[in-house]
Amino acid sequence: MIQRLRVFFISALVVLAPAYSQAQPVNTNTQVLVSIKPLALIYAALTAPQAPAANILVPADANLHDFSLSIRQLDTVSKADLIFWLGPKTEPYLAELAQRFKQSDQQWVLLQDQMHGWLEPDVAAEIAITMAQALVQRYPAHKSQIEQRLVDFQRSIHTLETTWQGRFASLSDTPFLLGHSAFEHLTHELGLTGAVEYQGSHSHGHAPTGMQAMLSAQKRIAAGEIRCAVEEPDVDFSRLQQRFSQLRIVRLSPMAADTQVTAGGYVDYLDSALAGLYQCLTGQSAANKSTMEQ
Ligand SMILES: [Zn+2]
Repeated sequence: MIQRLRVFFISALVVLAPAYSQAQPVNTNTQVLVSIKPLALIYAALTAPQAPAANILVPADANLHDFSLSIRQLDTVSKADLIFWLGPKTEPYLAELAQRFKQSDQQWVLLQDQMHGWLEPDVAAEIAITMAQALVQRYPAHKSQIEQRLVDFQRSIHTLETTWQGRFASLSDTPFLLGHSAFEHLTHELGLTGAVEYQGSHSHGHAPTGMQAMLSAQKRIAAGEIRCAVEEPDVDFSRLQQRFSQLRIVRLSPMAADTQVTAGGYVDYLDSALAGLYQCLTGQSAANKSTMEQ
């Protein structure tokens, strides 16, 4: 994974010539629409601060696995000029529209059809490259700025990744409960291999965890072995915590619900999610480990 990120990082540097830009904004009347908020964060990294933010289609508290478009959202899609989406597997509610509008003036840019992929730094790096290519094509006058921002974004993602790999190095086997697989790839990529799946029946397209596995996880909580559980907006461990009061809980948002859309928003989002996870795993703040900062 790291190797892959490095390849992208280097290819971004090589393919895209260095930029010596005057600070001109990407500023046109183009209506840009991104399907989900994490894509708006990556878009902002490539275009902010002067360019208008992209519109976001799916509300950040929605669940992609069983989402369907309202009439108003359909209207939003039909008015957009440039649409960034993840693809038919991840976003089936857009698949038919993408087909239907193929012949129109709309430009649909398919980014990365990998479930929860936007939560992985190396996938985010790929998303940013595809997005930057589409933006350069549309705004050739802003090529150098967009490319410079892409390089900066790749670099900040890489720093985030190495920083957290360092912080998590001593926690690689520490078990923790995941009530939904969204953050599994991210945590694994950063060296945390102790994720224990604990999905109830309301798991939105994911198969629930078997009874035996859940009972075994409960035994490990009772024994004090598992001390951290990761909640999401629709994954609630409060009843489990009532039974096992020593269980710490962190609530993470796969759709970046609480993150401001700014140029640094994507990195801030993952950084604060990982800080929350660190605190959940260790009972202490990651700030105490700041000597490991790069
Ligand atoms: Zn999921």
